[in-house]
Amino acid sequence: MEGRKDRDQKVTDKLRENVKRIPEYVPGKSVDEVKRLFGLKKVVKLASNENPYGASPKALEILRRFDKLHVYPSPNEVEELIERISEYLGVEEERIVIGAGIDGILENVFKMFVDPSDEVIIPIPSFPYYHTLASVMNAKEIRVKRKGDFRIDEESIIGSVTDRTKIVIVCSPNNPTGNVEDVDAVRAIVESCNALVFIDEAYAEFASRDLMELSEYENVVVARTFSKAFGLANLRIGYAVMSTELKKAYMKVTTPFPVSSIAILAAIASLEDLEHMKSCVEKIRAERERLYHELKNRVRVYPSEANFLFFESHMKSSELAEELMKRGVIVRDCSKFVGCSPFSVRVSVGRREENDEFLRALDDVLRG
Ligand code: PMP
Repeated sequence: MEGRKDRDQKVTDKLRENVKRIPEYVPGKSVDEVKRLFGLKKVVKLASNENPYGASPKALEILRRFDKLHVYPSPNEVEELIERISEYLGVEEERIVIGAGIDGILENVFKMFVDPSDEVIIPIPSFPYYHTLASVMNAKEIRVKRKGDFRIDEESIIGSVTDRTKIVIVCSPNNPTGNVEDVDAVRAIVESCNALVFIDEAYAEFASRDLMELSEYENVVVARTFSKAFGLANLRIGYAVMSTELKKAYMKVTTPFPVSSIAILAAIASLEDLEHMKSCVEKIRAERERLYHELKNRVRVYPSEANFLFFESHMKSSELAEELMKRGVIVRDCSKFVGCSPFSVRVSVGRREENDEFLRALDDVLRG
């Protein structure tokens, strides 16, 4: 047993220090878990910004017919999807990559750019995975507070850029606050520096405007997903637009088969059925506005251009979320999001009856 001199040491002691420091991932509770935990028959989940109407029936049909589980995804399928995305966006195929959701794309972009001690600018609050990735890469996070209406503070961001800045994150509409960014503010950042500006547009389809035009800049990546408006969250598929030069680098770092054929074919089918996506978006937007006005009478709610609403009440959000859960409604307690107050809650816009269920439970909790 030569070479095993450190038997008293556990392998977990050998984890990289930055990995040890990352807080343990605590997933939200599932509908089944909450049913079991509180002995409930019906539970509504409004915690993960999913599409409550589901995927296109054409995408579901693909899954029923698919029988090539034993072979790797073919490059032709990838090319066909990229062609469809190119038509959908009006962007050249040579500038599009696909990946395992925006999560997978973000991971690759961090692999492309970030060395230990490099700086990553994250406007806060925003999507937690940006912080995780910065920690994984041993990068230095530069957290820049948002303005009162949650828009990014472009001057403060520009002032924070140094020679070590590799990535500036811009999320629009922003998770969890729901606001969109002004194209001129983001353009000012893009033009002021040579760092990569990563624009996360996971919720673009729900918004009145987007930032895709900025993808023309050589230091911009714009990422989108099939998880939200297209209702394919479980298939883990997204895409990004970038320069042809960046695409070459991207293809070097990505895993060889990041996306399954099932996901690719379902995404193609979804793009062939834009009517389904548009009708989901229309219903979700209408419900978002109704829910916004309902919440306005009860809590401090912020306008949203996404498929969720952000609000604060007088009650600690951990407690509020727990009480709602006991009443069969799962929302997202955002108090642990970097830059959020202890009163911050995000609620996804569900179907009308789910939203009503949420409002009833909320009234019950706030009254008590
Ligand atoms: N970016 C943002 C802002 C998100 O909210 C999410 C989903 N929670 C993601 C990225 C991840 O999306 P995907 O399912 O495409 O990995």
